[in-house]
Amino acid sequence: MTKDLYEILGVSESASPDELRKAYRDLAKKNHPDANPDDKAAEERFKRISDAYDILGNPEKREQYDMVRQGGHDPFAGGGAEGYGDLSEIFRSMFGGGAGNPFGGSRYSPGGGAYQIEIEIPFVTAARGGTVNRVLTLPVVCQKCKGAGGSGKETCSSCGGTGRISSGQGFFSTMHPCANCGGRGFTLKKKCSACGGSGEVRSNESVSLRIPPGAGDGTTLRTSIRGKTVLVRLRVKQDRFFTRQGRDIHCSVTVTAAQAVLGTSLMVRTLDGKVKLKIKAGTQPGTVFRMRGRGVVHNGVKGDQLVTLTVKLPVSLSEEQRLLWMKIKETGS
Ligand SMILES: [Zn+2]
Ligand SMILES: [Zn+2]
Repeated sequence: MTKDLYEILGVSESASPDELRKAYRDLAKKNHPDANPDDKAAEERFKRISDAYDILGNPEKREQYDMVRQGGHDPFAGGGAEGYGDLSEIFRSMFGGGAGNPFGGSRYSPGGGAYQIEIEIPFVTAARGGTVNRVLTLPVVCQKCKGAGGSGKETCSSCGGTGRISSGQGFFSTMHPCANCGGRGFTLKKKCSACGGSGEVRSNESVSLRIPPGAGDGTTLRTSIRGKTVLVRLRVKQDRFFTRQGRDIHCSVTVTAAQAVLGTSLMVRTLDGKVKLKIKAGTQPGTVFRMRGRGVVHNGVKGDQLVTLTVKLPVSLSEEQRLLWMKIKETGS
């Protein structure tokens, strides 16, 4: 079964909203249960098509999905889709809940999914993309017990050894790790002294992460560290100068009254370094300049940088300045 939402709808990843809608309509019509009575396969396809369009047809969800997809790995390979907010429920229902626990039932992985961490990245790195290096404290296999956690293994009586307990029903039923055995399916008579029975210890790992351009607060990347799946949730630091709205970058610059009246040129910070911005004579406070193509690039489309002009009036004047302003006043402008 294909797990790629674009493939499910048979469109390319650059498909426009109209193309998506058309592809969805055609497929939904063809596979609709009314048109295919008693055809279970068609019904399944219909559900998948609807769920795929539910995400790709919503610009916000599509962007989130694209981010995960661009993380460099198949967002659904080998694990649950924990950590994607409200999308996870849809993903789980589509692709089957609770793929095996990558940590062998670690207590560090609630929900039976991959290990999750959160890191903070600079605003500009998130907007432009780039690489961040971090030392992360992660659970790794305990060397003393080789991950066994101890000795005297017995099958867990609560879950019967499956390590998981199901809740909910039908299409949206979910699996949870068994509380009695921590999701491992067994209990131990004698626990390992080094790891306390979990089979894992904490270790500092140097990690290099590729951040896709246009990553936002909450974007989750999937990566593999020492053979373990790790979901890295990004928190984007605020910038003193920039704010972001979708693909556009906003900022404001301040000039003196004389600069606004007579015109000037400024070096304005952009994501790619400083760029000259010309202010024409007589530019009014609050004017917004659009620096085309200086915003965030996402799905091959470039945003703009919008610069709002603020004019700072003098608060105290020297005697000479006062006389000059008096002269200006007399001219009536
Ligand atoms: Zn151990
Ligand atoms: Zn159990």
